[in-house]
Amino acid sequence: MILMNDFKAESPELRDDMLDAARRVLESGWYVLGNEVINFERQWATACGVAHAVGVGNGMDAIEIALRGLGIGSGDEVVTTPITAFATVLAIIRSGATPVLADINPETALLSIDSAARCITPQTKAVVLVHLYGQIRGMDAWTAFCCKHGIALVEDCAQAHLAAWNGQVAGSFGQVGAYSFYPTKNLGAPGDAGILVTQDEAIAKRATVLRNYGQSVRYHHPELGLNSRLDEIQAAMLSVRLKWLPGFTQRRSEIAAAYHANISHPQIRLLAAPEEVASHVNHLFVIICEKRDMLQAYLQLHGVQTLIHYPVPVHWQEPCLNLQCDPKGLKNSEKHAATCLSLPCHPQMTNEDVATVIAAVNRFEAP
Ligand SMILES: *Cc1c(COP(=O)(O)O)cnc(C)c1O
Repeated sequence: MILMNDFKAESPELRDDMLDAARRVLESGWYVLGNEVINFERQWATACGVAHAVGVGNGMDAIEIALRGLGIGSGDEVVTTPITAFATVLAIIRSGATPVLADINPETALLSIDSAARCITPQTKAVVLVHLYGQIRGMDAWTAFCCKHGIALVEDCAQAHLAAWNGQVAGSFGQVGAYSFYPTKNLGAPGDAGILVTQDEAIAKRATVLRNYGQSVRYHHPELGLNSRLDEIQAAMLSVRLKWLPGFTQRRSEIAAAYHANISHPQIRLLAAPEEVASHVNHLFVIICEKRDMLQAYLQLHGVQTLIHYPVPVHWQEPCLNLQCDPKGLKNSEKHAATCLSLPCHPQMTNEDVATVIAAVNRFEAP
């Protein structure tokens, strides 16, 4: 079976380096928020081209802390997409703000700027822009849009590690960028981890307070924060894996290029190729098929595991049935959820695996 992720197939060299890093942390006797975290924060800020990075417990908390760091909360509205990990919207709700869902562009599955415009009210304080599937597009339009409406841009970069647009890295366009290092992400820890990046020193300071119970100096709590600290062992693992990230991203892009060149089927559509100025980091390779469920079953039968990102749009999740949405509806999102399918696209795949996936997709016949 060709899997969606295959950590056990990673190089023994990488495994050995991770074991050395684990030993280093255990022998240091310091386990939470120490030098490994400071060191990784510095490396990640540099990689993103920003002044500050603040390590946190996971990607969802990074979004919540980003919003709270911007002073966004109760009574404020935040526009985002219904085609995302549930964590994006849950983080907005947990910040105290009200999510408002805009529709997607069907060619890319990314938030539609026209639909977002219909969602703006005097209460709107931010857009959480999700760089879905590793894509980064239209960033000048989004920064101009947020500037025009006087609202913040928060980038959800959980699927777009170091994706770049015109040479500028994801997370550095808005006031804050939020990354997840959940194991399956392009840069993943062997556990939960996340980080937020910003050019703004005041937001970075506020985030370091919020991640640690709202504690400013020891035992003094000027506000109510979270327990969302980054472990030393995860930071040490991430420092090791960061060295492998460029090679992994390169391999993902080779696989995606092979899919783009060779998948050809009258009933299957691919999402739009990346913009000229953008580097898509191919976290997920998504195809569109009206007979999606049959295609998924067919591929499973022919040794190819697939997943659906995402089968249920956020506005159809039980706690979200009454959320505010684009007054024109979320038809493109609903259609996407019913027809999208993610093919395996991870760095451990061999050329033979890639050829097997292509052949299986091209041979699909709907009964
Ligand atoms: C994974 C993911 C998150 C949440 O990250 P966690 O580390 O799992 O909390 C948020 N947004 C998107 C788009 C994601 O893919």
